Amino acid sequence: MNKENVKIKFYSGENIPLELHKVRIVQKLNLVPIERRLEALYEGGFNTFRLSTKDVFLDMLTDSGTNAMSDMQLSSMMRADDAYAGSQSFYRLQQAVEDVLKKKYLLPVHQGRAAENILSNAYIRKKGDLIPMNYHFTTALAHITQYGGRIVELLYDEAYKIDSRHPFKGNLNVEKLDAVIRETGKENIPFIRMEASTNLIGGQPFSIQNMREVRKIADRYGIRLVLDASLLGENAYLILQREPEFADSSMAEVIAIITGLADIVYFSARKLSSSRGGGICTNDLAIYRELEALVPLFEGFLTYGGISVREIEAMAVGLYETLDETMICQSPQFISYLVESLTSKGVPMVTPPGVLGAHVDAMQICSHIPQTQYPAGALAAAFYLVSGVRGMERGSISNQRDENGNETYADMELLRLAVPRRVFTLSQIKYVEDRLVWLYENRNLIGGLKFVYEPPVLRFFMGGLEPVSDWTNKLIVKFKEDFGDSL
Ligand SMILES: *Cc1c(COP(=O)(O)O)cnc(C)c1O
Repeated sequence: MNKENVKIKFYSGENIPLELHKVRIVQKLNLVPIERRLEALYEGGFNTFRLSTKDVFLDMLTDSGTNAMSDMQLSSMMRADDAYAGSQSFYRLQQAVEDVLKKKYLLPVHQGRAAENILSNAYIRKKGDLIPMNYHFTTALAHITQYGGRIVELLYDEAYKIDSRHPFKGNLNVEKLDAVIRETGKENIPFIRMEASTNLIGGQPFSIQNMREVRKIADRYGIRLVLDASLLGENAYLILQREPEFADSSMAEVIAIITGLADIVYFSARKLSSSRGGGICTNDLAIYRELEALVPLFEGFLTYGGISVREIEAMAVGLYETLDETMICQSPQFISYLVESLTSKGVPMVTPPGVLGAHVDAMQICSHIPQTQYPAGALAAAFYLVSGVRGMERGSISNQRDENGNETYADMELLRLAVPRRVFTLSQIKYVEDRLVWLYENRNLIGGLKFVYEPPVLRFFMGGLEPVSDWTNKLIVKFKEDFGDSL
């Protein structure tokens, strides 16, 4: 299909990613002085979620709802069919889901977590029901526990290694899966959850071979297999790159094989295809019927599901665009460029490079900060302070307390620098690299954080923290020494 284009994705010799699109609309950015950035940190409780974009230079918080839209997506929004019921926009989306994800029945929901709410509501029947998965995502875990369920994470040991060459760190450990099912009893396992491009361990993919093995076990015990397809396009792209059996396959073929192995596919369209929306889809009419009633209850009528018709149109076009390798490859290639150049300068990064962002190992950079003082949160705050770049903490602050209210510490303390599709230029990526190397060289100046306001659910979103010592000012002094009056 686009194989010809993809072959020229790098200039020969040097690993410089080459964009196969041009910029037609731009948005002005501000870089505010470091003193203002310090004030902004205090105003936002040292939590990058609470910063206002007027204080942010490069917004690398997330890829959720921030990917650049195409001209085709924007123009499709003009033909949206406003109707409470039976909107033509919905039927176009349904057709796109059938064409791309190969599932006939679609339940639209307002975003990914709404799908998690509906699936947990429908299938978690009793307290203690267990959902085995490769790894949790914050909102998936929150919904499962909200309905009394539990999770077990079944990755191979390699996945927990920061520095690795394993191409598929997102693989689900099938030997452990089999053992867990036998111990727990299949009647206590409502479904197995497989997450594409396993988000919280660094955007790491699973292989089709692994998914096939998971499918076999699901069949053996008669348990449903649910795919979280929010980052499916990138997982499929990395399969083309890394799984020899599929080296000559197309995106369309690989995506169809993956979704074909799942009974239920759900997704956040904020990542998969556009900037809003989500969906649950299946080929099993009985499953569709089980879930159907919950959509009008929580989301909206079955032909809009809480999404505006304009966004439904953009979702449909975006789904077809997911099949275009030249579109999907841009973000993983920028990430790979950033990870490789930082690694070559000694900055500890999650490898191999994954999708959705570059992941910096805060546990190692801030090895002088105990996990009780949130090294990843501290690194995110310090990096914003010295660069104006907003990343996201993916460590213990993003964890939730256990049922007894005790802290649970994350397996990894990561600063995630998201690279939304087609948003940044290479010079901006080089700026990120430059400031991160500087911060790495001055890492001993970074200090810890403590909570001053801790919400009980999904605390990382709105929680407030403050530095445990006066480390921010020390960092500013050193910054001034090295950068003078430069921002
Ligand atoms: C973002 C995300 C979700 C949740 O989607 P929202 O649209 O933010 O609610 C679920 N799973 C994965 C893997 C995600 O990356």
